[in-house]
Amino acid sequence: MSRAKVVFLGAPGTGKGTQAKKLSAKYGLPHISTGDILRNAVKMGTDLGMKAKSIMDRGELVPDEVILGIIKNRLAKPDCKKGFLLDGFPRTLAQAEGFDRLDSVNCAIQIDVPSDVLVKRLVLRRTCSSCGAMYHLEYHPPRVEGVCDICGAALVQREDDSESVVKSRFRVYVEKTEPLIGYYRQKGVLYNVDGNQDIETVFSEIVQIIEAAGEVNDEG
Ligand code: ADP
Ligand code: ADP
Ligand code: ZN
Repeated sequence: MSRAKVVFLGAPGTGKGTQAKKLSAKYGLPHISTGDILRNAVKMGTDLGMKAKSIMDRGELVPDEVILGIIKNRLAKPDCKKGFLLDGFPRTLAQAEGFDRLDSVNCAIQIDVPSDVLVKRLVLRRTCSSCGAMYHLEYHPPRVEGVCDICGAALVQREDDSESVVKSRFRVYVEKTEPLIGYYRQKGVLYNVDGNQDIETVFSEIVQIIEAAGEVNDEG
C-alpha cells in the first residue's frame, strides 16, 4: 500500500478544510493547512506571523520561499511518514515545483463550486477560536449562537472573510492557483469533485477517489 499524498485544489470556500478534517479523522493522516499554520503564527506574534498578517489581510499570497520553508519543516515530522493531506498548498506553480523537489503527490482533488455560492459560504463562515471547528451560519449553524458545539469556546470570523477581501482572494486564485489544475492533470493525478453538494456527499465521493487510487487504509 503506497502512501496517500493528497493535495486539494479549489477556490476559497470550496470546502477544502472541511473535507480534509474529515479525511484526517477517517484515515489518521495529518491535515496540513498552510492557512492555519500562518494564522497560528499571527496569533502567536512570531516573526513569520508579523510578516504574513498584512499580506493575508489583503488576500494576497505569502512569498513562495516562506511557504516552502514551512512545508519542508512540517513534512519532516514523523506523522507525515504514512502520507498527508495538503490544504491550501501549493498555490502557485513555483510552490508545486518546489514541492516536487521534496516529495510527490499521488492524488490532486479539485473541488468545483460556482463563485456566487462561494461568496455566501465565506461571508457566513465562522471558526472556533479554540479547536478550529468550522461552522456556517445558515448551512451548519452552532447549536448556541457564537459558541462552539464541540468545546464551548467562542466562534470568530476570519478577517479576510469580508466581501471585499474575498473578491481579491478569488482573483488571486484564478491567476495564480488555477494553472495548477493543468499541472496535475499532466502528471495523471487529477480528480474532479462537484463541491456544490452536501458535505457528506462530497466526502463520500472523495473517499471513493482516494480508495480507488489505492492509497489508504481506514484507521478505525
Ligand atoms: P476552504 O477550506 O476551501 O476555504 P471551508 O472548508 O473552510 O473551505 O468551507 C467554507 C465554508 O463553507 C464553511 O463555513 C463551511 O462550513 C462551509 N461549507 C463547506 N463545505 C460545504 C458544503 N458542501 N455545502 C455547504 N457549505 C459548506
Ligand atoms: P482559503 O479559505 O482561501 O482556502 P487559507 O486559509 O488557505 O484560505 O489561506 C488564507 C491566507 O493565507 C491566504 O489568503 C494567503 O494570504 C495565505 N496563504 C495560505 N496558504 C498559502 C500558500 N500556500 N501560499 C501563499 N499564501 C498562502
Ligand atoms: Zn471548538
